[in-house]
Amino acid sequence: MKTVFVDVDTQIDFMFPAGALYVPGAELLLPAIARLNHFAAAQGIPLISTADVHSEDDPEFRQWPPHCVAGTTGQLKPAETLAAHQIVVEKQALDVFTNPTFPALLGSLAADRYVVYGVATDYCVRCAINGLLDTGKPVALVTDAIAAVNAEDGARTIREFTARGGTLTTVSELTGTESKRNG
Ligand SMILES: [Zn+2]
Repeated sequence: MKTVFVDVDTQIDFMFPAGALYVPGAELLLPAIARLNHFAAAQGIPLISTADVHSEDDPEFRQWPPHCVAGTTGQLKPAETLAAHQIVVEKQALDVFTNPTFPALLGSLAADRYVVYGVATDYCVRCAINGLLDTGKPVALVTDAIAAVNAEDGARTIREFTARGGTLTTVSELTGTESKRNG
């Protein structure tokens, strides 16, 4: 079975308290995200990392505080989430499927299953898992490697996902080892 990992928007502006659009608790996920991304690289599992990249006057900033502006540190991914052979897919909207090259990329990877993690559960992760379920392939969400902007909305996203046939997994279930916290 060919699995593809999808690491959603684990960028500095979302992951750290000082980031422009911090997702509460996201920094606690960094060891898990790093473990999954490096596991993918070591196992030859294709790894897609989606990344917001906005212009300074992006229309999205009417709804959200400015974040992930091209050329800023906040737009970058934390160093520990970088891995060999990582395929970065940039986007200007919440939904990675708005990048017209994304469906063709998925087609070329020919996955039998997608494993999704990152931020935020109730926004960009939600768009990604729904779009991936629409492809008809099995999708698994890594429950200890996601964080929500709003906890209730995050819980509802997970309920809707499992109601659509999505499955839930964990870092240790995927990597076969206990997830260790750094520090
Ligand atoms: Zn954005």
